[in-house]
Amino acid sequence: MPELPEVETVVRGLREPLIGRRIETVWYDREKVIATPSAEQFIARIKGQTVKAITRRAKYILCELDHDILAIHLKMTGRLFVAAPENQPPEDRWVRLRFGLDNGEELCFSDSRRFGRVYLGANVNEFTPLLGPEPLEDAFTPAVLQTQLKGRSKLIKALLLDQSFVAGVGNIYADEALHRAGIHPQRTSDRLTGAEVNRLYGTIRDVLNEGIERQGASINWYRQPDGSKGQAQDNFLVYDREGEPCYTCGTPIVKIRVAQRGTHFCPHCQPEK
Ligand SMILES: [Zn+2]
Repeated sequence: MPELPEVETVVRGLREPLIGRRIETVWYDREKVIATPSAEQFIARIKGQTVKAITRRAKYILCELDHDILAIHLKMTGRLFVAAPENQPPEDRWVRLRFGLDNGEELCFSDSRRFGRVYLGANVNEFTPLLGPEPLEDAFTPAVLQTQLKGRSKLIKALLLDQSFVAGVGNIYADEALHRAGIHPQRTSDRLTGAEVNRLYGTIRDVLNEGIERQGASINWYRQPDGSKGQAQDNFLVYDREGEPCYTCGTPIVKIRVAQRGTHFCPHCQPEK
């Protein structure tokens, strides 16, 4: 699933083709792609609104319109691109939703597995679950991470995947952040030392910032709006490297399951204690 760096890259790639464009038509193949409000209300309300800005909250892409926010969640296989009907990429043939724009182009939501959803509302909180702090904002400090950890006794890997703990981190960047911090993914969150929490704070930000710099990780479905792949996968130290030597100590990277997710770590650099 696209995580914060992938979603942020999509946001940046959509700004140029989309900001200032007015939405004139909406087409969908099945109603359920529109999570809220009803498809009928969604279309009536969004038509005629202009895209003012495009931002991100957690893994949601937020198009700020004249009166509403159009939020898009890519889930597993969602992709977005903007193109005239005659220029649309044939490899993105699973288009579930099209927004016709005032310049003749379309914003297309292609999604092979159909888990992706769109939402329309005046306020993001109307349709998102409880979301934790944004890890790249200035307001996120080591003290905030410490506060978020307080009173939660969970496996640290599971906690990092919880969007109400820190927003936008998913399976890939959780493994990478824990590895760089030298923390075993099955450590209990309230047993981390102050020094470990500080290290984890730094590595969460580092892996997310590097992921954005490299335009996200194209391991599976993720592509940028212009169709190109990201490069973050070339930088991974543990993710998807089961059996390969740790770059620090040479020990083979191990893959286990934590919170139902494949979890990669180095047993030497990330001891269980
Ligand atoms: Zn190692």
